[in-house]
Amino acid sequence: MNQTENAPKEKAVIVEVGPRDGLQYESGFFPTERKIELIDRLSASGMKRIEVTSFVHPKVIPALRDAVEVLNGIHKEPGVVYSALVPNLKGCQRALETPVDDIALFVSASEAHNQKNVGMSIADSLAGFEEIARLVLAAGRSLRGYVVTAFGCPYEGAIPEERVLSMARAYADMGVAEVSFGDTTGMANPRMVSEKMGRLAQELKGVRLAAHFHNSRGLGLANAYAAYQAGVRIFDSSVGGLGGCPTAVGAMGNVATEDLVNMLEEMGIDTGVDFAKLLEATALIEEVLATQPASFTCRQGRPVWGPSTI
Ligand code: ZN
Repeated sequence: MNQTENAPKEKAVIVEVGPRDGLQYESGFFPTERKIELIDRLSASGMKRIEVTSFVHPKVIPALRDAVEVLNGIHKEPGVVYSALVPNLKGCQRALETPVDDIALFVSASEAHNQKNVGMSIADSLAGFEEIARLVLAAGRSLRGYVVTAFGCPYEGAIPEERVLSMARAYADMGVAEVSFGDTTGMANPRMVSEKMGRLAQELKGVRLAAHFHNSRGLGLANAYAAYQAGVRIFDSSVGGLGGCPTAVGAMGNVATEDLVNMLEEMGIDTGVDFAKLLEATALIEEVLATQPASFTCRQGRPVWGPSTI
């Protein structure tokens, strides 16, 4: 046995965001029972983290108006952390009435994007999170914080690194255990990711760092690899590559979970995900898409993984 075989296997954690980030802005309604089935299939694939839904007002995000039913309907696999996104205190209170394990907060690193997204300044968003954080921690649930447009904004352009850093510190001060840095509009490139994530990893001790890449310009996987090299071990991705963002011009498709799992596993990095079972979740999306093909933006027309592509 050589040294490589004796070495402990490298590991990475996938945070599956498809049921929330993937479906939130789709014009078609993904039926509640199919959402539940999708999440159950993802749980069965060995995925340890799943962002299930969002408690944004149903008028704003009608696609996720069934948040409570979905959280109450899924089979919670022991050891899997089920998360929900909340925009405000009211959403948080509704979420805490369900068996959700983790609450995800979000704020944009761009003032202009934050205004468009939630109609307030970054400072007001962060101030509003403090009461939410207290409530969540008192209820024995955990907290995740998103810094979106962390790598560039279509309205503001480059985002100062110091701003991103101070926002992550503000999250940490509230008791947020993990911060996910989002390239919401796919403006990052591998060199930028390597520099920024390297600096963040150095400065933010005691906070788990996650990376959330969109594939708008085809750089999602390259950016994920750069983030891995910079020390990031937690990656958000979306089954089937579903997703986008209507308040950010050019935001398309999250990195597809199948692509990310395949890349990491082929590189010898253990994700704990059973690829064949993951494809069963993808197959369910395809099944639903087949019934309303024009309603969903899945993988931007690229071929979908199938058994023959393994
Ligand atoms: Zn996303």
